[in-house]
Amino acid sequence: MIHGFKRFLKFGQTPFDTLTKKDLLFLCKKYYDTINTLHSIVLMHRGRNKDDPYWNEGGSGRQALLQADECLVEVGTSDERRDAIYRSFYRYASGLLYQHPELDRHWMVCDKCSSMMAKLGTPMQVCICGGPLRPITWDDLKEKR
Ligand SMILES: [Zn+2]
Repeated sequence: MIHGFKRFLKFGQTPFDTLTKKDLLFLCKKYYDTINTLHSIVLMHRGRNKDDPYWNEGGSGRQALLQADECLVEVGTSDERRDAIYRSFYRYASGLLYQHPELDRHWMVCDKCSSMMAKLGTPMQVCICGGPLRPITWDDLKEKR
């Protein structure tokens, strides 16, 4: 949760104007993940309802897809690259981006061998190497140099 948001805004202000770079980056990551997810779902919906005027020129479904496409293209996201972005970061980070308990997709990390494992059902306490497993943190997702 970001606490820098102003409760009331004057005309011309946005909720983002006073946020720190760290908070803005967090929101960019969260919004990218959300747009990417919604984009996929809207494409599936369009595929099942192709004749709906919602998808015609000027239709709100078509416009929503065009908006999402533009956001995803701005970060250089072709379909192939989108998969690489997912595997390099979002696969592991999505559980850290959201607060809702239904979105608890945290991964576990082994401090002994650095393996990351999805927390499915009852989380495992011990890695296959014998090392202890703990929930993933943002520090685990920092770029390795
Ligand atoms: Zn291990």
